Amino acid sequence: MGSQTRRQVAFAFGVGAGLLLIFLVIYSLAQLKNTEVPEIHLQRIAVILTAFSITLFTTWWRFKWVGVNLLAALILIPLVLFVVSVTKIPVFLWILLVYGVILFVLHRTDQHFENQIAMLGIEQEKYEDETNNLSLAFKAKGEGISTFFEKYSTYYNLRKLAEELTVSISWADLAQKAVDRAMDFIPRGDFAKIALAHGEEKKLPVVARRRLRPVGNWNAKQGDLFDFWCIKNRKRLIIMDTQEDFRFVLSDSEKKDNVRSLIVAPLFHEGRVAGTIAIHATRPNVFSHDDLRLLDAIATLASSAISNAILYEKTEELAIKDSLTGLFVRRYFFERLKEEHRRALLNQKDLSFLMCDLDHFKECNDKFGHQGGDLMLVQFAEILTQCLKGSLLARYGGEEFAILLPETTKAEALKISEQVRKAVEGSDFNIRREKVKMTVSIGVANLPDDTLDAENLVQKADQALYRAKREGRNRVCASTS
Ligand code: GH3
Ligand code: MG
Ligand code: MG
Repeated sequence: MGSQTRRQVAFAFGVGAGLLLIFLVIYSLAQLKNTEVPEIHLQRIAVILTAFSITLFTTWWRFKWVGVNLLAALILIPLVLFVVSVTKIPVFLWILLVYGVILFVLHRTDQHFENQIAMLGIEQEKYEDETNNLSLAFKAKGEGISTFFEKYSTYYNLRKLAEELTVSISWADLAQKAVDRAMDFIPRGDFAKIALAHGEEKKLPVVARRRLRPVGNWNAKQGDLFDFWCIKNRKRLIIMDTQEDFRFVLSDSEKKDNVRSLIVAPLFHEGRVAGTIAIHATRPNVFSHDDLRLLDAIATLASSAISNAILYEKTEELAIKDSLTGLFVRRYFFERLKEEHRRALLNQKDLSFLMCDLDHFKECNDKFGHQGGDLMLVQFAEILTQCLKGSLLARYGGEEFAILLPETTKAEALKISEQVRKAVEGSDFNIRREKVKMTVSIGVANLPDDTLDAENLVQKADQALYRAKREGRNRVCASTS
């Protein structure tokens, strides 16, 4: 029994005792002063008072049951009066009996409802717990879904970029594509660039750039101190505010560039950091670590694509260029000869062909060895490259070189050949600190003057060369048709 219930019971007993007292007082008065008043009236008054007190009491106990209590009292009063009049038991005992029954019923009812309320409380708590759990689960799912979509879109974008990077084989195109996509994926930045040291030189030229909003150094030709930091430390870099980052002391011009925040990721080529991809912004605190991770992923994709393209370019070069002189190899030269021949016929243009052979080269080999001879060949190739810029130069055989001059008449070709001969004659070839002289013989043939056939053009030039050798070397001979 709870303290509230105890209080209620105590109150009920109190009211009951009070009523009993009132009854006894009235009854005594009636007995003493007015013996003519029939007992039945006193009984009625007592019962009515009791019924009202019960009504009042129960109303106080459960305020909501007013109507039910009144109804109970209305039924109870005539019932009690009837029973009292039929039986001869004194009304006082009746009142006690009725009162006890009512108290008992009220107590049991109260207990029942207390239990019900407790049960409902437990149920309510259970449902509240469930609601909490459900709302937590819903929130977690909601967050899960949004991160899932974020991750999916990042994955989708990177996959698209990977696909795009397989389309082109020019490394410069690939670098531009990577920069464009980096700017699309991380649009908070103002400017993106790729700086790449792909050759032998120590410089770090900017090979691709894209600008969304004006940034001071957007057209800089070389990488900046942040790029060099990234390359030196071989790791990605994020700067929230360049003016507060103790790792970097900016020069005045760099301060003027107004780059406040940036992210940089390294680009790898042949196992070393060869460059960087960077995004700059003119406002501080623009980039998050997620942005940096995304840029790093782009850098990884771009690295392998660019690296492959550079290697492909090198392999292609190796396949078509002579490793000693850097001029085209004979096989590639014939491919180009076919093309130029077709073009010359189609456009009705001249095409001249020169065949060169170094004079007495065997002697040079004998004197300086094969390696010394090689040095001569390299220097001869350099003279040819300088004299014949824009022409197609090839190493035809050992010390024989072929030159194709599109849209060049026979007279022009003879003039050019004479210049080459003179340049060789006038040059000092350096072999092991010794200055050596060398001469060249050249045979010239022309399309359409000597022939219309490509193979025949080579033969004619060869014949002219042979004639130049016979006539004493160090000379230019034209083919005679
Ligand atoms: P000529 O004036 O008649 O041309 O006399 P030559 O001595 O140059 O005679 P020829 O052209 O027949 O000899 C070419 C020599 O070039 C033969 C070979 O030993 C040498 N040779 C061929 N290829 C190479 C090469 O890659 N390196 C070197 N060092 N020598 C080569
Ligand atoms: Mg020869
Ligand atoms: Mg020779």
